[in-house]
This record gives sequence, C-alpha cells and structure tokens, in this order.
Amino acid sequence: MTNPVPTQPRRRGTCPGVLAPMQVGDGFLLRVRVPTGVLPADHARRIAELGNRYGNGLIDLSHRGNLQLRGIPADALEPVTDALREMGYVSSDAASEAVRNVLCSPTAGLDPSALMDVRAAARTLDTRLAADTALHRLPPKFGWLVCGGGIGHLADSSTDVRFDAVDAERFRVSLGGSLAKAAPLGLCRAEDVADVASALGRAFLELRASLPEPPRRMAGLVAAIGIEPFATRLSPLISPPPPSGGGLGWGQVPHLMDVFGSAEPPHPNLLPGGEKGLIAGKVVAFPFGRLTAATLSALASACTEIRITPWRALILVGPSADAETVAHAHGAILSHTDRRLKLTACSGAGGCDVGTTDTHATALAIAERAGPLLDHVRMVHVSGCAKGCAHPAIADVTLTARDGVYDVALNAKPGDDSPHTGLSPADAVARVADLLTEESAGA
Ligand code: SF4
Repeated sequence: MTNPVPTQPRRRGTCPGVLAPMQVGDGFLLRVRVPTGVLPADHARRIAELGNRYGNGLIDLSHRGNLQLRGIPADALEPVTDALREMGYVSSDAASEAVRNVLCSPTAGLDPSALMDVRAAARTLDTRLAADTALHRLPPKFGWLVCGGGIGHLADSSTDVRFDAVDAERFRVSLGGSLAKAAPLGLCRAEDVADVASALGRAFLELRASLPEPPRRMAGLVAAIGIEPFATRLSPLISPPPPSGGGLGWGQVPHLMDVFGSAEPPHPNLLPGGEKGLIAGKVVAFPFGRLTAATLSALASACTEIRITPWRALILVGPSADAETVAHAHGAILSHTDRRLKLTACSGAGGCDVGTTDTHATALAIAERAGPLLDHVRMVHVSGCAKGCAHPAIADVTLTARDGVYDVALNAKPGDDSPHTGLSPADAVARVADLLTEESAGA
C-alpha cells in the first residue's frame, strides 16, 4: 500500500494525472500517460477492468493521446494507482508525471510511408522529462511532440516543442504551434532529442523569467522575443534549418483520419499507408473520444496492441478477423464519413459540476436530425457553458448551455451573442436543423 494520493479540484490551467487525480462532476478523473501511446492488449484489458470495478465505466481519449478513467471514488484512488503503477504507468511523483506531455505518431513502426520509427526517441524524451527535475517547473500544459511523418503524421497538432522527422536519422526542431505555424529552430540528430529537449526546457524557463509577464506557452515566448535566443543557446546541438517547407516529404501522404474505412484495400484489416505500403491495423473512432470500459476490453480481445491517437480514435494492431464486428457492436465509428466525427462536446452535466445539460445526447440528436445537412459543416460544438472547454474557438454551429437551455449560433464560439436563446434541448436541435436548411437553400 502507498501513501494516500493527493487530489486537486478542477481548475483552469491544471492537468490531471494518476498522481494528481482531478475532482470533476462524476468523481475523480485519472489521466493515464501512456508512453508513445502504445498499449499492449493485456494492459488495455486490465485498465478496462479498473474502470469497471472502481470507476463509472467511462473512459476518455484525450487530444494528447492519453486515456482518462472517470468516476473514480476517493477511496478507490489507492488501489487504482497501485494497479497502474504495477503496469508501469505511474511516475515516481506528481511533478515528474505532470511534465510527461509527449505526443508520438500513433502509427510509428507500423507505417512504411513514415520517415522514421520515432518510438525510441519519444520514449527517451518521456524518460528524460520525468528524470530531469529542473524541467518540472515547466507550466502544466507545456507539451512536446515527436512525429515520424507518414499517414499518422501530427502536422495539425499544436504543441510547444516539435520534433518532426526529415529523414531516418534527423528531426526538424520547431517551437510553438502546428507544423505550419511553429518557428523552425534547426535540425537535430535522433539520439540528441532528450538533450535538445532538456536545453530547450531550461531556455524556456530562463527566458520567460526575464519578461514582466512571463508567457506560459512557447508560442507566446517566441512571439515576444523571437527565435534567436533559443538558437544561440542550442547551437551546439542544432544545425541550420532546412529551406522553409522542404524536406519533410509528407505532402503526398493522405492522413489516417481522412481515409480510414474509406478505401477498399486488399485485406479488410489493412489501411492505406501512402505510396509505399499498408498498415496492419484497424482504426476505430468514438464520438467525443468517449468509450466504455466494456468496449475497451472487447477491443483488446480483438487485437494484440492498441495505439491511442490524438484524434478520438484507437488503432487496433494485429486485428482479429472479427475486430470490425466487435467495434461495430460497441458503437464505434468505422468510416471517415460518419457524421458523428463532426461533433464536439464537453462532458456537460454528466461529468462536470458546471454543466446543466446532456451535451453528448444533444450533439448526437443533432447528427441524427440534421443528417446530410451536416455534410458541408466542419464542426458542431455543444458546450456545457460559455467556457467552451472542448473547443474554445469558433465552430460552424455552436450551442452554449446555461441553466438547462441552449443558445444557438452559427460561426461563433461558446458564449458569443446569439439571436436564438433559451431553447430547450429539443428546440435547440430543431433550430440547428432549420438554420442549416436555410443555409443550404441560400448557398
Ligand atoms: S465547458 Fe463543459 S466541461 Fe467546461 S466548465 Fe463548462 S460545462 Fe464544464
């Protein structure tokens, strides 16, 4: 038995962990940081069992490629933590756990069209972040990304420090944002990733401290002081950047989430993996990134390994012949054209004490009612309140709840002024369908 696990109430800007469980509307939420997002099937089964036995049986897939167990009561934190520690998913303390925000290409080692299998580099980075106590002062959401290119590339994922493969041995290092937006710093060798990360983390802490209002994220610091101070400090480990936009070789490769379930590959359990080959895996997505422990357990029995993606989807590696049937029976999304992929919602009344409506049910009702009207819509966002935790930015359709009713707005963000206010959930669903009908008629 271990010491009682300290807990934290929900606060904006904080991040939950196993050693920092966060109290939310349905009990404690534990975020399990899975190194490189690779979850052996037997671990997935055991984690599902923990969720079933101790939690409320709900599991979330985070945008950072982690699993979140929900609804854990205070007196179950200790046995759940002990079991996760036994599997190797718990750091030595909360500070070393909090800093391990490393996103790794979920198709690493599976995709012949990738430039590099980045699992070793990502694992080394994860270990260094946990061990290097000087980096434990980094802000809670400070993140890292290691991308090998190919079909599972992370070009659109925004983070603080990016390592994007340019060939089988080197990464392009860039700071603050998506691949297109991050400021390029230069090239580093794969074996230097941990040293570069350590130096960059220290530089961030030192340089931000020199400002009267220290930015909490790398993009803000680069905007304030430019890239030069980093380049100077990192010069022994970094060589000059490649010509802008060149060298990554990803342009012709389709993205996993744009093609899964769409092609007719020669074998039902193979995904198109670019020009060079196929990935032995099946992608299964879940509305809002939410699945049940029973679903995770069933999927684990239908494959040898599970990869957690940042796209609310899992990759079943080595899927059994009935994997698709199992996933379908558990309500998984099996095609990139499934309209439920367009839905975004926070946990709402079911999982947040601020929420007053069942955001997931409302969003699913919109998909059902609007049907083909959603085909030209990129995102429908149902937010439990004006905070907009799931998507604080503009969406094509945004519903903002307050006191059990919704405000509905087009091309707006949560909390924006709306001409359609105070609608019951059923009326809000109908209003969305009407508005989309008017839009399509006027298009
Ligand atoms: S947006 Fe949703 S999750 Fe965030 S505080 Fe509001 S109700 Fe809670």
